[in-house]
Amino acid sequence: MHYVIVGNSAAAVGAVESIRRVDPRGEITVLSAEAEHVYSRPLIAHLVAGEVKENQMAYRPADFYTAHSVRARLGERVSAVDCARRRVTLASGETIGYDRLLLTTGSAVTRPSVLDRQLEGLVTFQTYADARKVLALLRAGKRQAVVVGAGLIGLRAADALKKAGAAVTVVEFLPRVLTRVLDAEASALVENLLRESGLNVLTGRAVREVLAREGAVSGVVLDDGEKLACQILVAATGVKPDLALAGDLATDHGILVNEYFQTSYSTVYAAGDVAQTRDLPRGVPRVNANWPNAHAQGRIAGLNMAGRPTPYPGSLGMNTVTFGGVPVISLGVFDPEAEEEKGYEVKIRKNPDRHIYQKLVFKENRLKGAIFIGDLGYCGAVKDMIAEQLLTGIIKDAILEEKYQLYGFLRKRRAEKLEGKQIRWPESYTSAQKYVKSFNEETWTERERDLRPW
Ligand SMILES: Cc1cc2nc3c(=O)[nH]c(=O)nc-3n(C[C@H](O)[C@H](O)[C@H](O)COP(=O)(O)OP(=O)(O)OC[C@H]3O[C@@H](n4cnc5c(N)ncnc54)[C@H](O)[C@@H]3O)c2cc1C
Repeated sequence: MHYVIVGNSAAAVGAVESIRRVDPRGEITVLSAEAEHVYSRPLIAHLVAGEVKENQMAYRPADFYTAHSVRARLGERVSAVDCARRRVTLASGETIGYDRLLLTTGSAVTRPSVLDRQLEGLVTFQTYADARKVLALLRAGKRQAVVVGAGLIGLRAADALKKAGAAVTVVEFLPRVLTRVLDAEASALVENLLRESGLNVLTGRAVREVLAREGAVSGVVLDDGEKLACQILVAATGVKPDLALAGDLATDHGILVNEYFQTSYSTVYAAGDVAQTRDLPRGVPRVNANWPNAHAQGRIAGLNMAGRPTPYPGSLGMNTVTFGGVPVISLGVFDPEAEEEKGYEVKIRKNPDRHIYQKLVFKENRLKGAIFIGDLGYCGAVKDMIAEQLLTGIIKDAILEEKYQLYGFLRKRRAEKLEGKQIRWPESYTSAQKYVKSFNEETWTERERDLRPW
């Protein structure tokens, strides 16, 4: 059996490790356009910020490939996949046959034509190589930066550049930051945090022109004519699943896969940022691009490829970031107003003076999403409740208040998870139900109603 894996990141590592667990003898070839030993992509921001060193970037030890008997061909781009003939073609023209193929090509950067130029100082922020370019610019004394795009990657880049000593302006076309991660209120809170931390944030503005001198960026002109001088220009205007190798595989936003990660060709699998999997809270296919999802998907895809059928329950949209020391987390359905489906119920608890904003989103007595800023409260338990789509019962009114029902719930969860005790969760409770005065551990009904205002 010859397994070929295109990509060498979170999903690929998960796949290699689980294939080897099931099949110690099959051949594994990893093909990656990037030349580096497998590294932790999220750390590139910390590398630029000076918070981690190059020797801390590796995601697995130096002997990872040999220890797993993997033929790693790093720095080799695949240019085409022929699913019918079961072979891939490299950019060099060489072809490699496979029995099982896994595509883990991740996300591709998208940028408007105005930012799509070859200039010294104009960079994207997606790879180790990008981070090295930024570090070289900083070492050469370039200290004025403009980051275009206030999504997670743009803001991570901006934060890192600021920590590295650059004066940074963020230019965002939309009226607010982190539109794909936060609701409007949370977004305003984060924007204040960013400004307080020393970033210049311009929303509702676009770059009209890039100014260059002798092949190097010297500034940008915004849509209202304002000029900003800069020697570092980061294009962080978006990413999307990299479908360059998808060919005639069935795709939507990403490559469509079944619960065993098979694409429309049964010998071709896809996992990680490039794949569209069942979104746990919404129950529909969606690309939920993050590191833990990619790794888990690769791990399960690997088991299936090696002949151990293992269904994947689905993925959860999850984003975590810290700005100015304040943690920001969003999970699942964080902004019901932006959803096609209606009928969500929202509970919010906030204290703007302390940069605290907590929001829970419910539907049909299940938690569908959340935002936590400043105070993570029971974020871990909330994440589990969203991922497992548990009925929330009385917990609905107790989570943000951290009341005794919550402690009872967490105790039971702990017993269930760590001690393997079977817990029967209530099937029908809704907080609109007439409350029951005595608390009953067996039926998990309410002892008293929380009358404190939200
Ligand atoms: C700056 C930054 C910060 C991030 N921070 C976080 C974070 O804090 N938390 C979090 O959960 N996620 C974070 N992410 C997202 C996370 O890194 C991704 O979700 C994760 O890396 C996806 O893993 P993957 O294995 O699907 O693909 P990727 O990591 O995108 O890797 C794709 C692989 O495919 C290879 N490849 C692509 N095309 C070809 C080809 N044609 N031929 C050969 N090889 C090819 C590439 O070389 C690469 O090895 C961050 C991302 C960035 C850019």
